[in-house]
Amino acid sequence: MNEEILTKTALDEVTAVGFCALASSPVEGQPALRYAVSLMLKLSDAVLKTIADKPTPMYFQHYRTANAVLDAAAFRIGAKIESLGYQAFPVAASQSLGGDKRYEGLFPHKTAAVLAGLGFVGKSGLFLSTGYGSKVRLATVLTDMPLEARHPIVENGCGDCSLCRDACPAGAIFGELPSETGRNFDPEKCSRYMKEHFQGIGRGSVCGICIKVCPKNHL
Ligand code: SF4
Ligand code: SF4
Repeated sequence: MNEEILTKTALDEVTAVGFCALASSPVEGQPALRYAVSLMLKLSDAVLKTIADKPTPMYFQHYRTANAVLDAAAFRIGAKIESLGYQAFPVAASQSLGGDKRYEGLFPHKTAAVLAGLGFVGKSGLFLSTGYGSKVRLATVLTDMPLEARHPIVENGCGDCSLCRDACPAGAIFGELPSETGRNFDPEKCSRYMKEHFQGIGRGSVCGICIKVCPKNHL
């Protein structure tokens, strides 16, 4: 089974791995890339506990390292897939299409993670994994290797909570469950706030408050 080979390869480096078929390929001109390997890496509780009302340099460094670990894992999974005779397209943990699409990436990692049954998208707009909540980072490898999800889709578990909406200093979280038709979070507001207020820490690219306050994270 391809899923077993890839799981063995991935779990040397990441916390969890999942598989899914997508509705269509997100890569223009490459329609066969409609399967995905979702890679998830848990962040350190001790580092996240340093966040109070703003990010910390330790969190920024940890976040950047987590992205690098995920990118390396996605690269290696991609190489493994190619060695088995299929196409592989690793999508970086942190993405931007640049220009007026700078808040967009090629592919939302949380889509693959949800379809793979690793968790759900919370009212914060963040992916909340089963077991580790939103204390995780994600990356994806797109492929034409036929892959099947090994877990059922997880139901949203936010319930009546709205702590992330109340805590967000940017007012970027609407406090609603995600819908298929629209966002429940404003990435431009979030990014603008971080750039204006947290420029001295990782040049305003991280915040972490909505992760710190989420009760699913037990921090
Ligand atoms: S990262 Fe900070 S500014 Fe952005 S949504 Fe979360 S709490 Fe709000
Ligand atoms: S803080 Fe509450 S509403 Fe926000 S993502 Fe976590 S559980 Fe959901």
